[in-house]
Amino acid sequence: MKEDDEDVKKLSKDIINLAKGLEETIKQAKALGIFTNERELLFCDECKLVEDVAFNGILFTYVNENEEIPQHRTVEDDDTGLRFVEIEYLKKYKCPKCGHIIEYTETDDDLFFTND
Ligand SMILES: [Zn+2]
Repeated sequence: MKEDDEDVKKLSKDIINLAKGLEETIKQAKALGIFTNERELLFCDECKLVEDVAFNGILFTYVNENEEIPQHRTVEDDDTGLRFVEIEYLKKYKCPKCGHIIEYTETDDDLFFTND
């Protein structure tokens, strides 16, 4: 049984290291402008700034004036260059265009286990 305990300990350690590595990878992806799917895409009611994700995973924004469902948007042609600003302690985002505060929903698929 002692051997089993050691195996479990080693496995736990491996899983924790794997999760740490994944967390680091997600941080790097975010820094590159890649959408990591941890929340829903944002939309500003006030100025109609909308987030979208390009085929290569890059997050970009455009203004959806007429509120119709967009046909085809690309980073090259439509990106405003603006990015919603996270206000971490409020768990909200601020619109970079008009300053409106936006609530967001975290997505369900939890990648990490927490210690609490
Ligand atoms: Zn706005």
